[in-house]
Amino acid sequence: MNYIVVLPAAGSGKRMKAGHNKLFLTLRNKPILIHTLEVFEQDPNCAGIWLAVKPEERMAIQDMLEEHHITKVKGMPAGGEERQYSVYACIQAAKQEAELILVHDAARPFIEPAVIKKLAQKASETGAAIAGVKAKDTMKRVHNHIIEETVDREQLWIIQTPQAFQTDILVKAQKQAELDGFLGTDESMLVERLNIPVHVVESTYDNVKMTTQEDLLIGEAILQKRQQEEN
Ligand code: C5P
Repeated sequence: MNYIVVLPAAGSGKRMKAGHNKLFLTLRNKPILIHTLEVFEQDPNCAGIWLAVKPEERMAIQDMLEEHHITKVKGMPAGGEERQYSVYACIQAAKQEAELILVHDAARPFIEPAVIKKLAQKASETGAAIAGVKAKDTMKRVHNHIIEETVDREQLWIIQTPQAFQTDILVKAQKQAELDGFLGTDESMLVERLNIPVHVVESTYDNVKMTTQEDLLIGEAILQKRQQEEN
């Protein structure tokens, strides 16, 4: 199932404390951004990549794409103040290009091709499908450090990206969010508001988002494990 992918890459990465865009940090001598891009570059079902970037970083990213032979980037619109606005800029630029769109955090370099395939399939059949894993820990709702409730873990999933949508659904959901001034933490929230069912596809625990310094250590360990499995 052919799709295009939108990668928001215009964050400032304050929690990483890198002093610059965390996507430029390297894992095994390769920028995080390139690790992520390579997954889609190598997927024959990916028909194009749109990257939301900070305008002042566009040149550096362009150089990086050339150096690492990334050829599928079709557009690099300017990102916004919030992640949702960065994704919106890409969708506006790319919406005519495909009937199926995946949105994926550029900061999640370990997404597995098999999960992408399942997501694209499910979203093309149903309209909307997002990646997630089952919660492993005991989960409690806490207010002012006092437990209000222990939540049934069986029903709790930790949601990741990619999030896949039929293009018309995502465009409609973004338009409504804009009209309502609604800001969500993922695209699924915008679609859920329209009462459209969103399916969850089981992903892997190593699809982590590179957010803090500790995540870089986890990232190196994941790459090492994968290399050992290849040998
Ligand atoms: O900050 P966080 O890691 O949660 O952001 C998720 C992704 O969204 C990152 O790849 C980041 O570059 C991107 N982002 C963006 N525009 C923003 C904020 C974040 O493109 N304003």
